Amino acid sequence: TYPAIGTEIINLITYSKEFIVVGHVSPDGDCLSSEISMKELLLKMGKTVHMANAGPFDRSEITSLRSDFLPHIDAELVSRKPVVIVVDCSSSDRLGTIADEITGLTTIIFDHHSSGEQFGDFRYIVPNSVSTTMIIMKLYQALGVEISKEIADHLFFGFATDTGFFRFINAHRGETLRMVADLVDIGVSPNMMSDKMTGGKSLGYVKYLGKLIDRSESHIGGKLMISSSYLSDSKEYITTDKPSDTLYSMLLSIKGVQVVLFFKEVSENVTEVGFRASHPSKVDVGALAESFGGGGHKKAAGVTVPKNIALVKEELLKAVKNLL
Ligand code: 5GP
Ligand code: MN
Ligand code: MN
Repeated sequence: TYPAIGTEIINLITYSKEFIVVGHVSPDGDCLSSEISMKELLLKMGKTVHMANAGPFDRSEITSLRSDFLPHIDAELVSRKPVVIVVDCSSSDRLGTIADEITGLTTIIFDHHSSGEQFGDFRYIVPNSVSTTMIIMKLYQALGVEISKEIADHLFFGFATDTGFFRFINAHRGETLRMVADLVDIGVSPNMMSDKMTGGKSLGYVKYLGKLIDRSESHIGGKLMISSSYLSDSKEYITTDKPSDTLYSMLLSIKGVQVVLFFKEVSENVTEVGFRASHPSKVDVGALAESFGGGGHKKAAGVTVPKNIALVKEELLKAVKNLL
């Protein structure tokens, strides 16, 4: 699954002194765990390292990962010409405001998303990797840097959040499980990681989730489930957190469902859409999201569309109808 990491990348990391590690907007567990484990790797090699993320920090699974992420990269830092390492993201628009701030700096990408433009000077992209943290584990091994218990926790956490805790792993991916077994041998407790991933939520968030399930609708003869979140919800519920994997897995558990769409009214003319496809479904939601300007993976994707929620819903229902 993992090709050798190119010597240009290994040399650039080995011989550069200062780095900025960056991840995607609205970071998830894999993104922040990747940023932190990349920072620790570089620190162990004696480098100067900064971490940046444009936010918003709006996902419940990252509660345990709050750390010293710069919201911006200032001109003084840029003038020292640090090397930028982008993790869990391979298109510049997913970096938010940071994209502009790093233009002109040498950039290395470590990611498992296949969509996105040719961005970055050096790219190590493994679409078959279940998480970016598993790619970073390979980088630790390639550079001969020891993986401490704390790093192992981070590498496992990214694996856990991106696989829905061991669910989204395909056949013939024994290598992934053997890598995870090594992390458990270093001292990671999957039991504790599971609590970290699913715990820490507020009652208001769980009630919001209940409302979204209550509001869900079946379309296209039961093959599509949709749910929606409106601006007015914020008066009654805590809606600042993105709905977790729980909403999608509940709706995907309904017999015959192939695709789940979640629409969130961000403002009158901005709508966020989350996509999920069932395992047997032939629909590639990553490609579908890409056709609307977003991206992701075959089974999980997303996009933000600068249009009213009613209009976005209509367009997407039509597009999914054509695919099913
Ligand atoms: P989530 O539903 O967890 O926000 O996103 C699922 C997957 O879709 C993420 O892993 C990410 O790859 C992708 N994704 C979500 N939102 C966007 C977006 O606005 N643009 C792109 N390119 N990908 C997205
Ligand atoms: Mn991510
Ligand atoms: Mn990821």
